[in-house]
Amino acid sequence: MGTLDTGTVRPKVSASSALAASPRSIGGLRSRAAACTACPLYGRATQTVFGEGPARAKLMIVGEQPGDEEDREGHPFVGPAGRYLDKCLDEAGIDRNDVYLTNVVKHFKWVPQPRGKRRIHSKPNAAEILACRGWLEAEIRIVSPDTILCLGATAAQAFQGRRFSVLEHRGKILRSPDGARFLATYHPSAILRMPTSQDRAKAKALFLEDLRRAAT
Ligand code: SF4
Repeated sequence: MGTLDTGTVRPKVSASSALAASPRSIGGLRSRAAACTACPLYGRATQTVFGEGPARAKLMIVGEQPGDEEDREGHPFVGPAGRYLDKCLDEAGIDRNDVYLTNVVKHFKWVPQPRGKRRIHSKPNAAEILACRGWLEAEIRIVSPDTILCLGATAAQAFQGRRFSVLEHRGKILRSPDGARFLATYHPSAILRMPTSQDRAKAKALFLEDLRRAAT
């Protein structure tokens, strides 16, 4: 398979590639990733949140990184954005159990809320995405999905390069570097943050369209 695009930082092997090289099952990868220290993000997170779903899913959905609830529970897409995704998958007629769900980065990156106790999401940088790339590539190698649907710019740019614009290419059927069908769409958390109900309704309609297109 081809390698994922991480923009200007392009060493031949990501920090996690050697770790991810030998396991031939998702369970084996998950066990190894649980002990990954290939970038600093493991230090402040509770645990590695690895991908989940059928080992031969036709559709792989890729987000940016686990959030606060995912970090505590150890499963991807179980927080507010995940619940919204579940609802939309249901409305689009897609069974979540048929989909492999993962993130480009497997540890929660956060900063403390100023004068508060909440852990605020912080976007992973290029070096962290690169460090984690081996795990994602290994997941793709094992699952071998027909279609990869990326949620949001961070995930999409990990495949298509930093200049890739989700607004420009949302919903278009492209190819990932390894040859799978590739689509990019909104991240559910971006829809949830939209300021008006009209904006959210419009984005949701497009999101449902993209989910259906990805699943067919
Ligand atoms: S974010 Fe990825 S590369 Fe960094 S420590 Fe976690 S699993 Fe390893």
